[in-house]
Amino acid sequence: RQDMQFPDIWLRDNCRCKECYLPQTLSRLPQLWNNLDTSVRVLRQSVDVEQQVLYIEWSDGHASQYPYNWLRERDFSAANRQLYLSEFYRPEQKLWSGQNFEEVRRVFYFQELITCDSTLLQWLHHLAVYGVGLVKEAPLEMDVLRRLSNRVGFMRRTTYGEEFRVRAQPGASNYAYLAAPLPLHTDMPYFEYLPGVTMLHTLEQSASPGGVNLLADAFYVAELMRERHPDQFRALCQTPVDWADIGSDGGLQFHNIWRAPVINLDDEGRCVRINHSIPQRDSHFSVPMEQVRPWYEAMATFVGLAQEHSCRFKTTPGDVLTFDNLRLVHGRTGYDDTDRNV
Ligand SMILES: [Zn+2]
Repeated sequence: RQDMQFPDIWLRDNCRCKECYLPQTLSRLPQLWNNLDTSVRVLRQSVDVEQQVLYIEWSDGHASQYPYNWLRERDFSAANRQLYLSEFYRPEQKLWSGQNFEEVRRVFYFQELITCDSTLLQWLHHLAVYGVGLVKEAPLEMDVLRRLSNRVGFMRRTTYGEEFRVRAQPGASNYAYLAAPLPLHTDMPYFEYLPGVTMLHTLEQSASPGGVNLLADAFYVAELMRERHPDQFRALCQTPVDWADIGSDGGLQFHNIWRAPVINLDDEGRCVRINHSIPQRDSHFSVPMEQVRPWYEAMATFVGLAQEHSCRFKTTPGDVLTFDNLRLVHGRTGYDDTDRNV
C-alpha cells in the first residue's frame, strides 16, 4: 500500500456529500464558497477498510466521506500528478524535423476512422503527439471533412464558413485562393480562438509539378531558436504582433484583428501556439520603435529554420491531411494549371 497526500482544505472543498456535490452534473456545489473558512481543519478521521472509504469530521461541523479509488486518482504525490498530466490530460508531444518526417508520417484510412473507435483514438493520439496525420481513401465527396469532424466534435465556423474550397479563383478574397506559392504559415492567426485542427481534403491534384505540400513542426523550430538564438527566441515570445484579416466572403464583411506574439508559451515556458502568416500580419505594428528591427531579425531566422526543417510531399485525390494548427506551419508550392485545380 502506498501513502497518498492531500491538502485538508482541498478535501473539504471536494466533499462528495449531497450538500457539496451534484453527481448528475459531476460538479461542485457553490454553497461552501458563500463564506469559505480557509482555516478549516480535520478534527477526526477514520478509514473503513472493508468499504474502502475515508471518513472525516471537520472543524466547521461538516462530515465527509471519500471512496478510496477516487482519492487514489487525485493523490497529490509528484508521481501521481505526473501520471495524470502525461496519461490523462495530454500525451507528451514529440517534436520533429522534416528530415525525419518518414518516422512521423502515419496513414489512417477514412472508412476505418468512421467505423472503428480504437482507430479514431489512434489518429487523435497521433495528432496530439506529432501534430499531423494523413487520412487516405476518403470518398471524393464534399461531406468528408464534416463526417470526420462529427466523429469527435464539430466544425469551427469562421468568417469563411465551416468548410471552404481552396482553389485558384479569379478575384480571390483570400491569398490561399491564388495559384501562387503559399509560404509556410498557420491558419487564421487573427482569431483569439482559432481552429485547432486544420483538415485539407484533396479532391483534385495539380497535374503540374507544383501543388506540393510543405509542412514543418514550428515547436521544433522554436526549440532550436531557444537553444541557438536565445535573444531572438525571446523577441519572438515577447513582441506582440498585430494580425488582421479584413474583407468579405460569401456576402459577409469582416474585420478580424488580434494581437499576440509569434511564439506563445505557457506558464512553464512550453510552446502552446505559433502565429505566423505573412499576408495576414497587419501593417499596424503597435510596439515601441526599438523592438521592430530585432523582431524582423528574429523572424528572418525563424522563417529560414522553418523552411530548412520542413518536409515536402504531394497528396493525391482522396487524401485528407490533418494537422495541429497551433503547432505546425504549412504551405504549398505554386501550380500552373489554374483553370481546373482544386
Ligand atoms: Zn459535504
